[in-house]
Formats: sequence, C-alpha cells, structure tokens
Amino acid sequence: LEEKLEILETRIPKKYPEVKFLNYLKKKRILVTGGAGFVGSHLVDNLMLQGHEVIVVDNFFTGRKRNVEQWIGHENFELIHHDIVNPLFIEVDEIYHLASPASPPHYMQNPVKTIKTNTLGTINMLGLARRVNAKVLIASTSEVYGDPDIHPQPETYWGHVNPIGPRACYDEGKRVAETLTYAYAKQENMQVRVARIFNTYGPRMHMNDGRVVSNFILQALQNEVITVYGSGEQTRSFQYVSDLVDGLVALMESNYTLPVNLGNPVEHTINEFATIIKQLVGGHSTIKNVAEVEDDPQRRRPDISRAKNILNWEPKVSLNVGLQKTVNYFRKELKRFKHSHNK
Ligand code: NAD
Ligand code: UDP
Repeated sequence: LEEKLEILETRIPKKYPEVKFLNYLKKKRILVTGGAGFVGSHLVDNLMLQGHEVIVVDNFFTGRKRNVEQWIGHENFELIHHDIVNPLFIEVDEIYHLASPASPPHYMQNPVKTIKTNTLGTINMLGLARRVNAKVLIASTSEVYGDPDIHPQPETYWGHVNPIGPRACYDEGKRVAETLTYAYAKQENMQVRVARIFNTYGPRMHMNDGRVVSNFILQALQNEVITVYGSGEQTRSFQYVSDLVDGLVALMESNYTLPVNLGNPVEHTINEFATIIKQLVGGHSTIKNVAEVEDDPQRRRPDISRAKNILNWEPKVSLNVGLQKTVNYFRKELKRFKHSHNK
C-alpha cells in the first residue's frame, strides 16, 4: 500500500498545492455540460479545487473560453467544443448537465434550438449516463413553476406555464427535461438528481446577458436610465453564484432523487431592486418604468425547506455582499471593453 500511495503522490499536480492528497484518492471524472457559461464555470472551479478530473463540453453559444482559461493546460482539465444536441461518447463517473441558454433574450433568440438543447441534448446526456453508469444532475429552473399561483413555491407545486407563450421554449423545455430524467431513472434504474435553480447572479455573467442584475448594474455604472419592465411590482429572489454551486455539489453527493429548489428566499420587487443597485453603485442614473414583457412571472420565491432538511444547505451570501462583488466585476469588464475598443 505504501508503495501505491507513493506513486499516487508523485501524480498530484504540483502547480496546485490546494489539491489535497486525500481528495486525490477520491478523484472522479466529472463532465460539466455548459461548463464555459456563468454557473458552469464556477462549478468547474469548485470541482477542480477538490482535485477531480473535469471535462467541459460547451458549444460557446453564451459561454466563453475566458471563463475557464485558468484551468487550460492543467492535467485534470479538458475542454471540448461540442453541441450536446449531437451524441457524445466519453467515460465519466458523474455528469452535471447545465448546457442551455438561461437568459430570456438568449433563449428566445432561437426558440427551436432552445427546445432541441433541452430535449435532444438532455436525452443525449441521459443516454451517456446510462451507457457508462454515471450519476447525472440536471439543472432545471424555477421557470417550471411558470407564473405561480402558489407562493412561495415548494417542489410539490406543479406549476402554471403558458405552453405557447414566448417563454415556453425554455419553461416547457426544462419541464420535458425533468420528465425525461425521471423516465430514464425509472426505466433504466439510474441515479438522477434534479436542481430547480432560482435567479442567480455573480461575476462572469455576460455583459449582454440581458437579465435584470447585469442590466441594472451596467446601466447604473454608465449613468444610463435603469429600465424597469412594467410596473416593477413583480418580485424575484436572488442568490449568489457560490451558494448555488455549494447546493449543486451537495445535491449530487446526497442520496436524494426528487427535485430540490436551490435559491435565496429573500424576495424583492424589481422597483426595490433598482433602488438597491442605484444606491450601491452611486452615479446619477434615473429609474424608469418601460413596457412590460409578455408572460412575465409576477412573484417568485423558493421554499427551501427541502434543501435545508435533506442537504443541510442554505444560502450564506447576503444580497449586499454578492452585489458588491458583481458590481466590482462589471466595473472591470467595462474597463476591459473600453480598452479593447480604443485600440
Ligand atoms: P449561461 O448561458 O451562462 O450558460 C449556459 C452554457 O451552456 C453556455 O456556456 C452555453 O454556451 C452552453 N450551451 C448552450 N447550449 C448548448 C448546446 N446545445 N451544447 C453545448 N453547450 C451549450 O447560463 P447559466 O446562467 O450559467 O445557466 C446554466 C444552467 O443553469 C442552465 O441550464 C440554466 O437553465 C440553469 N439555470 C440558471 C439560472 C440562473 O439564474 N443563472 C436559473 C435557473 C436555471
Ligand atoms: N427586468 C427588468 N429590467 C430589465 C431586465 C429584467 O425590469 O432590464 C425584470 C423582468 O421583467 C423580470 C425580472 O426583472 O420581471 C427578472 O428578469 P430576468 O430576465 O433577470 O429573469 P427571469 O424573468 O427569468 O426571472
């Protein structure tokens, strides 16, 4: 045994001393689809720092190489340019399936492709998991609850989704992804996990992501009008990305099969949110109510009792702390953008 341990020790990456020996012994091969995106890249950091071997599959529709460049060249890391609508043949122990556009303007840009990614893409990932006997976690969404008539939303709520509205490609796509997951689990006796993710924000969101956090921060930083869609009385609950990543890893490691909400239950109206961001950033932006968007869910807040009970998980990062980090990130992004356009 001592000899084996010695051999293993020589293979621990020297460049990254934070990778502990014990973790190395528990090393897994993990696929992260959509790993070059916002959430995916933070998950990749977490898994790499635990010493796992991580394979990212991404078609770079909304993701960027820059989000994972810190790992390029590391012997435990591999980046594959691939569209999950096409089958993939690799050997892995676990799959975090995150590939799908998440921001409304992005997923509405090509609704048919959004449906294909969430249906065919999910079938391909479930098929891969079945072939290699891997555990698979699906990134679902609070959008499966639609414009909810139960508040806050527990996992037992079946939802209220318009099947032919502008958001349907995403909402129904994710609902089918969940259905597929449980059909495979039952029929093929597979180990599955389903995370219903609520609004998440943080560094590495795309400058033109189009979701409310990035829009408001960028508008405030550039002294532009902060655009509130509709009355602004609709609510959302925002979680910081590191809390979500902790929840995803805890869910994968648990024995729990049914869907689990992962979100921060602190709820704000969009009007309040605009004021919070304006105060945090400073400057002289004004807040303006503009046209409402179709089928905008009016209230959203997760009931996280299940995550608390089963995973012993709850969000740790307050809105103020999380927003400050995100504002700092966007400030740097703006500088970088201006610098590259002045050249
Ligand atoms: P994102 O757009 O930053 O990341 C999605 C990634 O998937 C990108 O890197 C994109 O290039 C990739 N991708 C898209 N289609 C693909 C395809 N066909 N083949 C391969 N790669 C593809 O979005 P995100 O915010 O990081 O979201 C990640 C996951 O979490 C998504 O499944 C999303 O539905 C889910 N989710 C996110 C939130 C949130 O608030 N961020 C909320 C609920 C659910
Ligand atoms: N929103 C807004 N101004 C913006 C972008 C979004 O008022 O510039 C509103 C949007 O109408 C919704 C909320 O903010 O009520 C959250 O929108 P987002 O696109 O971030 O996520 P989702 O609607 O998917 O929760």
